[in-house]
Amino acid sequence: MKIKKVVVIGSGTMGSGIAAHLCNANIPVTLLDLKTEISKLAREKIYKSKPPLLLDKSKIDNIKVGNILEDFSEVAEADWVVEAVVERIDIKHDIYKKIFKERKKGAIVSSNTSSIPIKILSQNLSEEEKKDFCITHFFNPVRYMGLLEIVKNENNDLDKINSLKKFCETELGKGAIICNDTPGFLGNRVGVFAMQIAMTEAFKMKLTIEEADAIFGRPMGIPKTGIFGLYDLIGIDLMADVLKSFIKELPETDKFHEVAKEIPLIKKLIETGYTGRKGKGGFYRVNKTNGTKVMEALNLETGEYYPSKKISIKSEKVDLQSLINRNDKYGKYAWSVISKIIKYASSLIPGITKEFNDIDEAMRLGFNWTKGPFEMLEEIGVVNFFDKIDEYQKNDFLENLAKTKNEKFYGQRQKYTDIETLGKVKKTATSVDGNNSAQIYRFNNYNIVEFTTKANALDYDSMDALKKATDKPLIIINESMQFSAGVNLSYTMEFADKNDFKSIENFIKYFQETCKHLKYSKYPVISAPSGLTLGGGFEVMVQSNFVASHTNIVVGLVETIVGLIPAGGGCKEMLARWLDTENARKDPHYAPLKVFDIIGYGRTATSPVEAEPLKYLKPEDKKIMNRNSLLEVSKKILKDNADFKAPEELRFNLPGKKVLTEMDKILEKLYNEKVILDHGVEVAKELGHVLSGGDTTIDKTLSEDNLFELELNAFMKLIETKKTQERIKHTLATGKPLIN
Ligand code: NAD
Repeated sequence: MKIKKVVVIGSGTMGSGIAAHLCNANIPVTLLDLKTEISKLAREKIYKSKPPLLLDKSKIDNIKVGNILEDFSEVAEADWVVEAVVERIDIKHDIYKKIFKERKKGAIVSSNTSSIPIKILSQNLSEEEKKDFCITHFFNPVRYMGLLEIVKNENNDLDKINSLKKFCETELGKGAIICNDTPGFLGNRVGVFAMQIAMTEAFKMKLTIEEADAIFGRPMGIPKTGIFGLYDLIGIDLMADVLKSFIKELPETDKFHEVAKEIPLIKKLIETGYTGRKGKGGFYRVNKTNGTKVMEALNLETGEYYPSKKISIKSEKVDLQSLINRNDKYGKYAWSVISKIIKYASSLIPGITKEFNDIDEAMRLGFNWTKGPFEMLEEIGVVNFFDKIDEYQKNDFLENLAKTKNEKFYGQRQKYTDIETLGKVKKTATSVDGNNSAQIYRFNNYNIVEFTTKANALDYDSMDALKKATDKPLIIINESMQFSAGVNLSYTMEFADKNDFKSIENFIKYFQETCKHLKYSKYPVISAPSGLTLGGGFEVMVQSNFVASHTNIVVGLVETIVGLIPAGGGCKEMLARWLDTENARKDPHYAPLKVFDIIGYGRTATSPVEAEPLKYLKPEDKKIMNRNSLLEVSKKILKDNADFKAPEELRFNLPGKKVLTEMDKILEKLYNEKVILDHGVEVAKELGHVLSGGDTTIDKTLSEDNLFELELNAFMKLIETKKTQERIKHTLATGKPLIN
């Protein structure tokens, strides 16, 4: 079965997300709704979406729009029809009747329902029709969330379901997990339960919402929105509807009921329009007083808002053992929440799936957790867990584990896919070396370096690991969300605060040395980025010999935003790429000016399609929809380059002062228009100095080391200014740039 055309019915949040993502996969798609105006508006929203749902906005017209009255004949041409209309069974049944009357023989029909069992969805279908009907439950936003739950019915043509799964894996890049027909499937059943436990325990233990979010967040390997922040993001009213549907579907004995009871404060919030970020505010709100914006938090006891307090829990790394053993309210809360999630998740085996690993992977792919409940159990330790737990409702899984006390119960990961993923390989690879910032694995005849810091920010140790790992072909790849958000600025500022600029200089030199080493060492180095690949992260990638990039990537040199310039080879490599163009051969000013614009504005690309015109990525770099495949593709690159030879060193002929006059003119205009202020000019001048080649003329040839030196000098000059330090501190504290 080949899927060459798809029709999506219902152009709301999910339908438009699915259509956009099919467009990303170059599959012609038609989006139908009650009226064409609705689907047209949905298409406009896709175009404007942030973060963008499309890899390539210029393809927007590949999404055709229409309505279900006049354009239903589109269905007859589709190989797959996705229903994503409102969650109402009567409406869905009506739609299926129409679809099955019109569809091409054998075409797949699926529903995106989050809560209606397939038994009920398909109750009016004939045996023949049931063969081709299933649930394909995507997560929002479709481009970015990895999870796709597929629910079969007993009549399904299994070959067809498998080929749909394969299509969704390869073409759409999804982690497709087949699950049983049970309420909320895997992700929502466990994810929503976890949210409810985190919330009800916070109420019970009288934690403030900031305290709960500080624990049920990064320290547990959960996104930093925490629980109350996540409620605000999803919509407090929507969550109430989700809970109602669980209550309706689940048997009374299910522990879900205990955590899904209506909370008077939440009821009041909904009634008064405090439905979260989309409403007047929620658990958090931004309040404007005297012209300044203040973030406020809700007191769970009084229902009053107060200025939100930052809770600092020292946790650079997820360390569940230390967290649950803390002798304070945070430790107690963490243990209570984690143990209850483990108890609940284990009680669902084998009812919702026979593979406990599927639940962990669903939490990773659908909720961005770094570890699922069973991996949490593995980390806490089986003996430890049973020692610490007082009472628990027996279930087969835990009873069995209590008997065997098998600490190594886990076994293989990512069972849902045949792809040889990093997650699987890590389980069998030898851990060769490692430090606080990175881990080196040896697998067969190559090494893997995985960064392990927050957002994979880079420091001395990260560089050390990279350098050490070049004794074999090397793949730089990671499981966590980001490839690397860049150099660790807090680490740099610790030195700056002590006026220890020598240490910063040494670090930058070591960074440069390592990147040069990556590029010219005997064995090939491959970077496999996904997510943020910024600043220093980009510099590591760009100085690797090959790149296998995920299509969800945010890539760029953003140093100027904090008053710095790229100093790990970013300026050098971007110059080299732009010098290697027809225009640059004709005009020696072309490349320096082009790179001046790109780095000066800190331009970023949100997909490989956007990255190529900026030359952040090259046409020959591999672009891959499925993140799970990054390792396989990297391995294939190694295989195809068995006779690898390190590249020749770059040489540069740059115009020196001559191009600076042009850059100055640009700066003057921007300064007069107040696009940049005094310090912005200072930063841009330093950047210009590097990109012009410094004290040179076009007939002189500069080496890579000459450019590294220019980068280093400019960087050091800037980091020593109070204004740059101010900007860095501001960004570290607020996550936002400071213009000065
Ligand atoms: P939505 O309310 O944003 O959009 C529903 C769309 O269906 C609307 O544009 C509406 O005009 C259209 N519609 C209604 N009746 C129709 C009909 N008879 N024919 C054609 N179009 C019709 O809803 P949504 O959030 O996109 O949810 C769609 C489905 O996906 C639901 O089954 C929901 O449970 C499920 N789902 C939602 C999410 C989520 O995060 N929103 C996640 C996963 C699954």
